Amino acid sequence: MQRILILGGGGGGTLTANLLVKKLRSRIDRGEVEIVVVDATGQHVYQPGFMYIAMGGERASNLSRPERSLLDKRVNLVIGQVDRIDEATQTVALSNGLTLVYDQLVIASGSRIVPEAIEHFDTEAEHFYTAEAAEKLRLALDTFDGGRIVIGIAGMPYKCPPAPLEVAFLIEAELRERGLRDRSSVDFCSPIGRAFTIETVSEMATPIFEEKGIEVHTFFNVEAIDPERKVVLSLEGEELPYDLLILVPPHKGQQFLMDSGLAPTPGGWLPTDRHSLLVGERPNVYALGDATDLPLSKAGSTAHFEAPVVAERVAAAVEGREPAGKHVDYEGKVMCFFEIGDGKGTLLQFDYDHPPRPPKPNRVWHLGKIVFNKTYWHTVPKGRV
Ligand SMILES: Cc1cc2nc3c(=O)[nH]c(=O)nc-3n(C[C@H](O)[C@H](O)[C@H](O)COP(=O)(O)OP(=O)(O)OC[C@H]3O[C@@H](n4cnc5c(N)ncnc54)[C@H](O)[C@@H]3O)c2cc1C
Repeated sequence: MQRILILGGGGGGTLTANLLVKKLRSRIDRGEVEIVVVDATGQHVYQPGFMYIAMGGERASNLSRPERSLLDKRVNLVIGQVDRIDEATQTVALSNGLTLVYDQLVIASGSRIVPEAIEHFDTEAEHFYTAEAAEKLRLALDTFDGGRIVIGIAGMPYKCPPAPLEVAFLIEAELRERGLRDRSSVDFCSPIGRAFTIETVSEMATPIFEEKGIEVHTFFNVEAIDPERKVVLSLEGEELPYDLLILVPPHKGQQFLMDSGLAPTPGGWLPTDRHSLLVGERPNVYALGDATDLPLSKAGSTAHFEAPVVAERVAAAVEGREPAGKHVDYEGKVMCFFEIGDGKGTLLQFDYDHPPRPPKPNRVWHLGKIVFNKTYWHTVPKGRV
């Protein structure tokens, strides 16, 4: 019996498990292979919906389903918190005392937010990186009656790089709709020298910021918040006054990966091969999704396109063959819808060799994002798209 252990039942872990069943069904049925997913909560959360809670169009209850309902019945689900990986014994220890042995290990434990890394973040800044925080931001927007809105990024890398730009565009549109635009300013702070990390996307977004009258402050790495003066300060020495401060919180990889020595850097990201998705030089440990250190968007879409590669490579190892077919290597494919406001959107599609060339914003891509969000449960985790 060979055991494939998948840590994390989010987008990446669930899809990998279901794809592995498709490849190894008869071996699983004969009792030669076991696939186990370990997840801390047993609830699968669709995080892209958080932004729509903040924008007033979504409810938290629609964004969470039992992980069991998304997994093939051949996959065993263990609900428990992973505490440590012991590579010497090929075991994973859970906080409830259970120890699980693995032959192949897939790490899909995502990222975590650490707002506490910035003093006064919790009391001064709003965000939309959890359902609860997004609900709180919605309340803050509902009571906002004009003033200075500052939207920024308090640490890189973070999940869904376009999200703060989308929120800036959507809030600006909302202010116009509510008749508050004339007595409000919207400022956007980018940690780098342009509006967005990828140059072609920045070239698309910059005129939209200008058109909407949103001032972009480049090289603004959030360093501190002064609650007395209601200003946010950058590492570069700039300060911006706010009435409503919205910051993407700093992100890190999971603590157990740092404690186990697999992610030795301060960020806690796993050193991952950009094509094979193997972690370091290990022959039987893979990573996908937000957990990796790959210089790509931390996005569900990234995990979505990585999962077939991990599944093919793990299945090949289990079957004692070479990986084959079109998913031997990950080529860096990512595809994200991007909201512009006023019912319009665009699409970012790229890979390691081809930067995105976003089409002119239109209604189709906005609707594409809405449809994708609504149909997610029936498509992505089950490997149907
Ligand atoms: C506001 C927002 C908007 C977004 N918009 C988009 C978008 O438009 N498009 C897009 O592609 N992506 C978007 N994303 C990003 C996307 O949600 C993530 O990149 C994606 O969920 C990553 O998948 P993952 O499987 O790596 O991690 P996750 O989906 O986060 O899953 C990780 C799983 O691991 C489990 N876990 C963690 N630690 C442990 C532990 N110690 N023990 C056991 N289990 C553990 C967690 O419970 C969780 O179930 C957005 C995210 C946010 C927050």
